[in-house]
Amino acid sequence: MQKVTIDAGFTCPNRDGAKGVGGCTYCNNDAFNPSYCQPEKTVTQQITEGIEFHQKRYRRAKSYLAYFQAYSNTYGSLDYLKSLYDEALSFPGVVGLVIGTRPDCIDDQKLEYFSKLAEKHYVIIEYGIESCYNQTLERINRGHTFEESAEAIRKTAAFGIHTGAHLIFGLQGETEADMLAEAEIVSKLPLDTIKFHQLQIIKGTRMAQDYQDDPTQFNLFTLEGYIDFIVRFTERLNPEFVIERFTGEAPPRFQAGPVWGGLRSDEVQLLIEKEFEKRDTWQGKMIEIAGE
Ligand code: SF4
Repeated sequence: MQKVTIDAGFTCPNRDGAKGVGGCTYCNNDAFNPSYCQPEKTVTQQITEGIEFHQKRYRRAKSYLAYFQAYSNTYGSLDYLKSLYDEALSFPGVVGLVIGTRPDCIDDQKLEYFSKLAEKHYVIIEYGIESCYNQTLERINRGHTFEESAEAIRKTAAFGIHTGAHLIFGLQGETEADMLAEAEIVSKLPLDTIKFHQLQIIKGTRMAQDYQDDPTQFNLFTLEGYIDFIVRFTERLNPEFVIERFTGEAPPRFQAGPVWGGLRSDEVQLLIEKEFEKRDTWQGKMIEIAGE
């Protein structure tokens, strides 16, 4: 099964003025959008082209998840959401939806609609938590609190919908101890999946400007430092969560900060896996030890 990314042309309340303008300081969605994603194309067109694109690399994929990734994919009227998501699910071979959004872009009506879809299809809503600390969220101009993320995740799970979350490590002002402590905090949430991302400085963002002005305010991970950190973090993480990714990977042409020797995400993942083996450790090990 393969994920096919779709840019449905949403914006987000942190960009259009409803919550804020300018968006999160690190955000440049272009850096993460595959080339076949163009919001002026219909959902059907994007899925068709996405499947063609992936068939060259993953010939054995027979079914697909439509991945609505760019911006906030529940930020619109219920009727509009229905038209998009019904269109995606009616595409032959599409068996489910992956929907990325913000915690302030969801309500009971929308959750009810998604929970109906979830009776017949795989549906997961992924929330960008990014940090468990409100001070950090304010600094990066996120426009919502950690409590709002936690509440949205609890509600989504209570509606019987799979829930995912996203965290960024290396944000200004957070120490390694702060970040490690997040493992315990997120472990209590009813999540099915989780994605991690080392902070990358992306060209054209407010953060890139801040970095240029004063790089010493950043404490970006080296590759070795991140491998050490992420292994220790995972040892403290709820073993029930499926980790979907350990690192993010923006194309080098978008990077305005240090890069890890041009290594791809899958190469970094191999190094992380080797480190787990070397230390003879695993996800949730510290929780097991504490419970003994
Ligand atoms: S990261 Fe997400 S929430 Fe933040 S500005 Fe970009 S699209 Fe909006």
